[in-house]
Amino acid sequence: MRDLKANAIILIAYLLAGIGSFLMAIPPGFIAPVWLPGAIGLAAVLLVGYRALPAIVIGAILLTLPYGLFVLEAGPVSSLAGSAGLALAAALQAVIAKRLIHPGTVSAMSLETGPQLARLIAVGAIFASLCGAALASAWLTIGGFAPPDLDFWTAFARNWAGNAVGAAAVSPVILLLFAKERVSRRRKRNVALVFAILSVIGLATFATTRFNAIEQRREAFATLITEDHIALQERINGARRRLESLHALFAASETVTDQEFATYVAIAFGQFDSATSVHWLVTEDGGQLSQHALLDPPAELVATQARAILVTSDRRVVTDHYFEGLPNLVETTLLTGMLSGTPLFGEGDEAWIGLALPAFAGNTIPATVNDRRRDFRGIAVGTFDISTIISRAFTHEGDDYSFRVSGIGSDGVAPWSFGTLDADSRLTTSLPLAIGDETWLIEFAATDRFLAEKQDWLSWAVIVIGLIFITMLNALALMSTARTDLVQRLVDEKSAEALALSNNLSLVLEHAADAILSVDGNGRGVLVNPAAAHMLGYELDALTGEMIHELIHPVDLQGRPHNRTECPVFQGSPDQSRHSGIERFRRKDGSDFFAEFSTEIIISPDGTTVGAVTILRDITARMEEEADRERFIEQLTRANEELERFAFAASHDLQEPLRLISNFTGLLASRHGDKLDESGLTYLRHTLDATARMQTLITDLLAYGRLNSDADAMNTDVDLTALVSSTLDTLGPAVQAARDHIEIGSLPVVRGNPARLGQLMQNLIGNAVKFQRAGQQAEVRISARDLGKSWEIEVADNGIGIKPDYREQIFKPFKRLHSPDTYPGSGMGLAICRKIVQSHGGMLTIVDNIPTGSIFRFTLPKALPTESGEVGTPSETVDP
Ligand code: ADP
Repeated sequence: MRDLKANAIILIAYLLAGIGSFLMAIPPGFIAPVWLPGAIGLAAVLLVGYRALPAIVIGAILLTLPYGLFVLEAGPVSSLAGSAGLALAAALQAVIAKRLIHPGTVSAMSLETGPQLARLIAVGAIFASLCGAALASAWLTIGGFAPPDLDFWTAFARNWAGNAVGAAAVSPVILLLFAKERVSRRRKRNVALVFAILSVIGLATFATTRFNAIEQRREAFATLITEDHIALQERINGARRRLESLHALFAASETVTDQEFATYVAIAFGQFDSATSVHWLVTEDGGQLSQHALLDPPAELVATQARAILVTSDRRVVTDHYFEGLPNLVETTLLTGMLSGTPLFGEGDEAWIGLALPAFAGNTIPATVNDRRRDFRGIAVGTFDISTIISRAFTHEGDDYSFRVSGIGSDGVAPWSFGTLDADSRLTTSLPLAIGDETWLIEFAATDRFLAEKQDWLSWAVIVIGLIFITMLNALALMSTARTDLVQRLVDEKSAEALALSNNLSLVLEHAADAILSVDGNGRGVLVNPAAAHMLGYELDALTGEMIHELIHPVDLQGRPHNRTECPVFQGSPDQSRHSGIERFRRKDGSDFFAEFSTEIIISPDGTTVGAVTILRDITARMEEEADRERFIEQLTRANEELERFAFAASHDLQEPLRLISNFTGLLASRHGDKLDESGLTYLRHTLDATARMQTLITDLLAYGRLNSDADAMNTDVDLTALVSSTLDTLGPAVQAARDHIEIGSLPVVRGNPARLGQLMQNLIGNAVKFQRAGQQAEVRISARDLGKSWEIEVADNGIGIKPDYREQIFKPFKRLHSPDTYPGSGMGLAICRKIVQSHGGMLTIVDNIPTGSIFRFTLPKALPTESGEVGTPSETVDP
């Protein structure tokens, strides 16, 4: 439905444009100087796409079919074929234009930039119509649909120029006026106005030029035919003069021999090549006429030659004619006594003028008809070939005009005529032709060719140059209006953006939790947000224009007075435009608060400070919290230290009684064991075991507690290889038994405390050998990896492993996963290990060993480099 409506509109526009173009067309080419439908087609495909094609095809057929049928009279079939070809060319042109223009043009319709317009004109108007014109002209001239005298190149040139110029001048305007894109009404109106004015000027110039040209042609025609008319009249007069001289010959002598006649005629008519026969007919008594005939009479005349004219006794010419019409001619001459003429027609186009001149006795013309009949002595008759007369007189017949010579009948109807006059000619002139005292009429009709010559090219030039001019002015109008349009649009957009921005900024300022204050170059408040006013205890507008520096506490955090000159706004420099820190501020009511501030100094390009923006955050609460926290930590640390001291003292003091219990229980067993029965001995053994465990616990606890003291030096280079092997020596029988299965990789020299590191290795290796399944051979591997800044040491075993859930718990003091009966121990080993690694700045963790067992990993600092650059060779280390 939408398509139908669009197509209907396009079709109507196309037809109107076509009719307008035809009106501008000038014969004989009948090709419009400007083919406006091309412009409609181009604009239509660009506006609605290929949907416009049906309208273009139908429009082209409707325009050209009547032309073929009625102007060229080419017959229905070839007219239809011709217009179909032209329609195809029009569609092709539109498709090419659309394909080439559209992909590259972002905003094809608003033609906002010069390149867009240039592209439309170059590709859409000039190039696409080149293709259309080539096809159309080939179709026209090869298919024989064109006017007869139109060759391919002329057709092509006119078609192309007309199409291209029309499309270039008109399509941008159509596109702009009907574009869906944002084109302001003002711009549309301006462009339409400029185009309309220019078109009116162009058309007026075209019409004036054409009118002038027609006028000029009319004048040229008048001059031309006057010349030719005079020449014709002269020619006829010449014939008459020759006949008169012939007449003088016979008047002078009554008897003229054929020989004399021949000589004389040869002299008089020899150079007069239109004369076909010359006769001298004389009346004789008894009605006999003697005659001389010369030159080359036409066949018909020859056939009736002998004694052709009989004059009766009453001197009437009788019917035995020399040629048809002669009696009338003679009669006319007798009536007037003067030269008389008559047209003579032969076969086909052959025609002559017969001229007759009477001779009377006494060589004077008797006054009355009766006297003239009486004195009639003879008649000189000449026949002149009209074609030859005309061809000698007329210089431009045929090409420039057609003509007709006719007699004037009494009723206004020509009794006879010669020649074919183009009755449709737009310029005809008739002039009289004097034959004796008789008048014939000669009519001239200008040919289309004559009328079109010059005028055609002039008008074309006017139209084409005019349209090029229109195109250029239009382009200027399009682009200049586009610029104002663009500027307006830009202004609108930017204003909207600015408004949105300022709204956003107001929102930000209004809702910011931090105080925002901006000051001018003198440090006076320019803008203060509600948070700032609230923080400082002022009304919102109260701080505008006030010295903002006065809000800072008069004494700074170091107890020095705060000078106004120290205000950051006076300290700004291009390299240091930001100041931040913590400052004490004073509210309006005199109360103080601490705030973190950040000030950005605004420095203009010439280096002067034009103002500053400061953001304040009240940190009074935070500072109080921090002070509370620090106090709390201090208390906690103190309590912890006391607790540790107490635990250490307690375990140390517990050792003594425990040793006594252990010693005395041992003595009881050794000295009085024989007095005890079986269960008594068992109790004694349990007591001994428990005290031993208690002792281990206390020893380990003391060891753990001792690690808290920083007394131990941590800065010795320790060769781990030596450390591990000496550690192994100190370990119990289980380790000794597994010693062959303890693999010691190449271990580095690290920095730390040898005693603590020995303890660490002892615990880890001990555990690795201890936590094995019954009957399984323990396999332990100790290795190291360079992490760049530190060493990563790994102790891996094939033991029972540790479930992921317990991997963190087992580092807690006394945490054990088994009963002392299964695997003996205090549960302090790993806690001590972690503390040792931590005291070396590292971390101890557990990872899975595949397929079974555990891997303990920890980092230790590298030994300091020696002078040779090597890190910790064994020779330079302290052997623990
Ligand atoms: P203890 O060895 O005195 O029991 P530790 O602190 O050294 O105490 O170890 C805590 C627990 O971690 C042990 O009871 C044991 O369950 C587990 N554990 C430690 N090392 C290993 C190991 N190499 N393989 C398996 N379990 C281990």
